[in-house]
Amino acid sequence: MRKLIIAIDGPVGSGKSSAARRVAELLGYTYLDSGAMYRALAWKALERGVPLDSPDQLEALASQTRIDLEAASAAPGSARGNALTGLRVRLDGVDVTEAIRRAEVSQAASKVAVVPGVRRLLVAEQRRAGRSGGVVMEGRDIGTVVFPDADLKIYLDASVEVRAERRWREHQQKGEAIDRARMIEEVRERDRRDRSREASPLVPAANAVVVDNTAMDVEETARLIAMLARDKEKKGI
Ligand code: C5P
Repeated sequence: MRKLIIAIDGPVGSGKSSAARRVAELLGYTYLDSGAMYRALAWKALERGVPLDSPDQLEALASQTRIDLEAASAAPGSARGNALTGLRVRLDGVDVTEAIRRAEVSQAASKVAVVPGVRRLLVAEQRRAGRSGGVVMEGRDIGTVVFPDADLKIYLDASVEVRAERRWREHQQKGEAIDRARMIEEVRERDRRDRSREASPLVPAANAVVVDNTAMDVEETARLIAMLARDKEKKGI
């Protein structure tokens, strides 16, 4: 059976990471989180005091940066692990997996991601990582730009309130106290930046299957996607 390239795009809190990781597990595919690459670069920019409004400096920084996504087995004893256990992120050889999940890095990542030169470099890496197939890659532009010929394209969405609530819970679980109302604002702000930027804005690909999972959990979302993928695998298209 042919191994597919599966693209999962969607806004903040649409459940891409959890669903993509679970789909990869169900199909025996590799899970790749493109957002982690923008986050890692943003983290480095913050650490080094590189201004987030300087496209030239950000592009130069990206060209001197090595980002590796490494599959990691789920924590012992956990059936499925959480969104952070499936992938380790190394920046110039240093593990930044947890550091890049902080709220300030989320906002910085969406600023770094508006720079076309940064996108060009990271997209090239993403294409290299996924080109042999057998991958589930999630992000904002996977079905539109990174793999416009992906075998299966999914666009996940949910109401902004539910998406902000999911993010708020994630931060709570990590002991990061964030006000609920502020979380909704943060999600709206990031949505706005991701959807309105000139370079590769967040939009559903023309041939994407749009899944609104406001009332669905991760398992339901992942099983639906895996079912669509198996169908394509069998048909060999
Ligand atoms: O998916 P995640 O929230 O981790 O992504 C962080 C930020 O990286 C997003 O808000 C978006 O601005 C950017 N991003 C992107 N293109 C991708 C993945 C992420 O622009 N393919």
